[in-house]
Amino acid sequence: KNENVTCQGCGVTIQSNDKNQPGFVPASALSNDEVICQRCFRLKHYNEVQDVPYTDHDFLQLISQIGETNSLIVKLVDIFDFSGSFIKSLHRLTGNNKVILVANKVDLLPKSTNRGKLIQWLKKSAADLGLTVQDVYLTSAKTGQGFDRVKEAIEHHRDGEDVYVVGSTNVGKSTFINYLINESTGLKEAITTSYFPGTTLGFIDIPLDETSSLYDTPGVINRGQITHYLSNEDIKTITPTKEIKPQVFQLNSGQTLFIGGMARIDFIKGDRQPFVCYFSNQITIHRTKLEKADQLYSDHFGELLSPPSASSVDEYPPLKEKTFKISGDKTDIVLPGLGWVTLTGDDVTVSIATPDNVPVSRRSAII
Ligand code: GDP
Repeated sequence: KNENVTCQGCGVTIQSNDKNQPGFVPASALSNDEVICQRCFRLKHYNEVQDVPYTDHDFLQLISQIGETNSLIVKLVDIFDFSGSFIKSLHRLTGNNKVILVANKVDLLPKSTNRGKLIQWLKKSAADLGLTVQDVYLTSAKTGQGFDRVKEAIEHHRDGEDVYVVGSTNVGKSTFINYLINESTGLKEAITTSYFPGTTLGFIDIPLDETSSLYDTPGVINRGQITHYLSNEDIKTITPTKEIKPQVFQLNSGQTLFIGGMARIDFIKGDRQPFVCYFSNQITIHRTKLEKADQLYSDHFGELLSPPSASSVDEYPPLKEKTFKISGDKTDIVLPGLGWVTLTGDDVTVSIATPDNVPVSRRSAII
């Protein structure tokens, strides 16, 4: 144990047990006089920021300091998992600072997506969650889509002040900031971590001009996601990496869809209609009769119905049902971290089964 050793770059306590936790240094590198953590090492040598997950408590403590500054907040969410990646407690802590909302991973949505409508939906959803935003932008940190506009908006709204980029883990915050770093040539050497007094971790500081900076902040863990119950291999399968091709199933009531073996959608009541499924193209969706679904599940969970793959079925929690009644408006039933199903019909009853800690929700359709 190295309880008293701290990183020279950011002040975090050094540990060599878990490479996914703050302050990691491989045991072999501990003998150096000047120890820096893996995150600071990557920043120093590769100009690359890396996100580290924080516990909610530590995270909120760090973020609450932003409330004491005069700054612009750039809040990143994952368009593929909006409600899961939207940190509700955040706006209470960021004070009266202006916020712009950036919905990342827009490359995953079908090209035909109506962007104007999506932006309206995001504005309304943010307002419903109690967050007033100056504006909403769609980006892909992967393709660079939308960056020109975001950079312009940051310059405009920050009005000479500092910028803090916040978001939960896995929204693409590191990729987003790395994109900005790579674009701002000539500034490479100037990137530092600045150690906030009284905190455990420095914020990464990217100078914007002589007197102001853009700061990276740690990510809070996005809870209630299905990924917490899957192996790394399975996570690869369910995480979309390119444009999602919606799969359309024309269903009659009394039919069931299995999303791999991870979730189950029972069509209980309503006229024959399309179930439009937005999931990673790599997930196989199985259709069966409702009356046969229990048997199919117990016979083929982890095999035909996978992920979870056979080796990790034991860690996968039992499914729990929740019933939704839908009428009129086009509605998405959202399975956090996995995707969603869009329904259009009138007077429809569906029952959705997911692990207990992965709460299914509904929203008006985003596409
Ligand atoms: P962070 O935890 O918020 O810092 O997220 P990362 O930057 O590490 O990204 C998490 C995952 O999302 C990685 O697998 C990235 O390759 C992926 N990712 C990030 N931005 C995008 C994007 O705009 N589109 C897509 N398709 N994937 C992205």
